[in-house]
Amino acid sequence: MYNITLIPGDGIGPEVAEAAQAVIEATGVKIQWETVNAGIDVLAKEGILVPDKVFESLEKTRIALKGPITTPIGSGFKSINVMLRKKYDLFSNIRPIKAIPGIAVPFQNVDLVIFRENTEDLYIGQEKTIDEGTAEAIKRITREGSLRIIKAAFTYAHQNHKSKVTVVHKANIMKLTDGLFLQCAREVSKDYPHIQLQEVIVDNMCMQLVMNPSQFQVIVTTNLYGDILSDLCAGLVGGLGVVPGANLGKDMAVFEAVHGSAPDIAGMNIANPIAMILTGAMMLHYLGESNKSHSIYKAVEATVLEGKFVTKDLGGSASTKDMTNAIIANI
Ligand code: ATP
Repeated sequence: MYNITLIPGDGIGPEVAEAAQAVIEATGVKIQWETVNAGIDVLAKEGILVPDKVFESLEKTRIALKGPITTPIGSGFKSINVMLRKKYDLFSNIRPIKAIPGIAVPFQNVDLVIFRENTEDLYIGQEKTIDEGTAEAIKRITREGSLRIIKAAFTYAHQNHKSKVTVVHKANIMKLTDGLFLQCAREVSKDYPHIQLQEVIVDNMCMQLVMNPSQFQVIVTTNLYGDILSDLCAGLVGGLGVVPGANLGKDMAVFEAVHGSAPDIAGMNIANPIAMILTGAMMLHYLGESNKSHSIYKAVEATVLEGKFVTKDLGGSASTKDMTNAIIANI
């Protein structure tokens, strides 16, 4: 029996989190869920944005399955998602992008993993207004922060027999910040002579990804480029509804899909649960339950291939619940 924190989040979060829980249960893995929540809905009910019980549960279980929490654009409200990643030093944001047979996409063989640095860059939240017409933000890159995410990417490449790691940067313009990240990549790559280090500037990377994505295996990059490239890559394999993710630190793991709270479709029972279900599968793999994790991937593939119970974003008309039940039936 595993003790795991569940943070359903808001928007489509609770719907897809429930789907992931049900699918995990169907694999037979026994989990004692500790459900806690944060965000604007919690603020309205409990008068606090992130109740202490969220931190207490995370610090006890050290592992969570988390839905998205809305960050309103342009308000003073800071991202709770970013705060949790920083507070617990969850420096590795790992996002596997893999084509699922049966989803109509321009490229059938995309299979890459993005390693996004998760704690620094423009995400440190240091912005200030200089005068009425000027605002500034600080982009912080450190040697320590860069080395650890780059090492994580190379370790993954080595363990999974990948022959190439692509570092994405803009060091021709940001010579000091992106220059440092690139320098770190060159240093780490020396310890892996059997793995090629490919250096690609971020704008060129966008073009390469939409023209020939299957040339990439492992991508490592800074926080903001990683965020943008993740959505771009999600678009290559069917959209945000199908891409899972993990935030890993030294001694804590928070599993979280790439998508946000998708307020446009929240509460309608039409969100695609695959991203969150595969996020659950990543969590089972992390727990050492590789066979059960694999059975989820297979059940998702079978359901998509059958094509009877797929959600609107994939061209079908099934509800979130119908698709979840079909996946459970295929386990
Ligand atoms: P954030 O910046 O908070 O990560 P985002 O800008 O990536 O959020 P999302 O909330 O993820 O935006 O949604 C972007 C678009 O993708 C929306 O139109 C939304 O409906 C769609 N989308 C996101 N997740 C899903 C899903 N699971 N199923 C179907 N559509 C989705």
